Amino acid sequence: MASGTTNPWHMALEQFNNAVQYLELDPGIIDFIRLPKRELTVNFPVKMDDGSVNVYTGYRVHHNTVRGPTKGGIRYHQDVTLDEVRALAMWMTWKCSLVNIPYGGAKGGIIVDPRLLSMSELENMTRRFTSEISLFIGPDSDIPAPDVGTNPQTMAWLMDTYSMHAGYTVNAVVTGKPVPIGGSLGRADATGVGVMFAARQAMQKLGMPLEGSRVVVQGFGNVGSVSARSMHEIGSRVTAVSDVYGGIYNEDGLDIPALMEHVRKSGKVTDYPKGEEISNADLLTIPCDVLIPAALENQIHQDNVGRIDTKLIVEGANGPTTPEADRMLRERGIVAVPDILANAGGVTVSYFEWVQGLQSFFWSEKEIFERLERIMTTAFEDCWSMAERKNVDMRTAASILAIARVAEATELRGIYP
Ligand code: NAD
Repeated sequence: MASGTTNPWHMALEQFNNAVQYLELDPGIIDFIRLPKRELTVNFPVKMDDGSVNVYTGYRVHHNTVRGPTKGGIRYHQDVTLDEVRALAMWMTWKCSLVNIPYGGAKGGIIVDPRLLSMSELENMTRRFTSEISLFIGPDSDIPAPDVGTNPQTMAWLMDTYSMHAGYTVNAVVTGKPVPIGGSLGRADATGVGVMFAARQAMQKLGMPLEGSRVVVQGFGNVGSVSARSMHEIGSRVTAVSDVYGGIYNEDGLDIPALMEHVRKSGKVTDYPKGEEISNADLLTIPCDVLIPAALENQIHQDNVGRIDTKLIVEGANGPTTPEADRMLRERGIVAVPDILANAGGVTVSYFEWVQGLQSFFWSEKEIFERLERIMTTAFEDCWSMAERKNVDMRTAASILAIARVAEATELRGIYP
């Protein structure tokens, strides 16, 4: 376990406290927008395939509802905690604000290793959890989406369960659904493509060539694999990737589409034949030009940051860098594009999916990626200029912009009653 600040909620608070110093806000408003608005913990039974009953604990946290309904993924992972869900919900508030979509932040999770459950057990658990949190979610109030350990199938079960309770089909209660039941074209790739847009902008600003630049990606799930493929498509050389089982390295560049096909069949990157196996710890310290953490929190910390050998970090994952590591990266002149900017492509296309679902009018993939590119580019440019204006790093700049918008909305709405 890394030393230093590893509790995600403490990390999120430290980042918030750092950014609000640059804003002239009423202390009461600061207190209000810092804390989660409401938190739900549920303990619920699930019938397993062998007839036994397992009890699971899950959470749904609404961080802030001032700019609109709340939005945020649902995570299935054995290490989920309430503090982690709180942090992820707060980061969602800033992310939605930064790309200027009319949502507040939320997050949910269940303490479970989904790899240990059969499909029918996963379905039973998802449906019961949906039922348990149904008071919290809804197409106008709180709209879940996939995160670590969940996928479009999970969202289909969630949508179906909610609809069974309502008595009619409520597509817009969830995003990241399969396309045949109201999902958006492009949603599955949106986060990874958005990571590439952010990386590309940053590389241009730093005068780095896209062609041939060495890219290392940690995590090869939804975000990591599509980030790697998108970087490969713009001509960069993806030299190493990893998943929970370990990593694979090839100095000449990995054939990412072939590796994705391999992972579809074998379930892991490590036994891919055209590369040498490396550990996850070593992957992060391989010399490269762009490092994309796309797995979990706390991967770049004070114990390994000194050995990180890159020019640019683009955070596909939420919270991969601890505050201590962040300070050390800054001292070493390594630019970090923060999570709330770099991985905002997912929630942006989730917003497109929600809008399309509410209107029952669907857009082409071309329209979706053009709009996504516009939004990501604008947000990146806004953060870059704020960083220059205030002489701060990109994380602080992104947080200043995001918090300022939430504070402005709070002041405009006023304090009820
Ligand atoms: P996922 O479950 O699809 O994939 C996670 C990947 O990380 C898997 O390849 C897994 O094997 C790997 N992994 C897990 N632990 C690891 C470790 N210790 N070392 C290396 N690899 C490890 O999840 P995802 O949806 O790709 O999410 C990844 C990150 O991106 C999370 O931080 C998530 O919150 C964030 N994110 C996801 C989305 C989205 O649209 N799915 C949007 C924004 C941010």
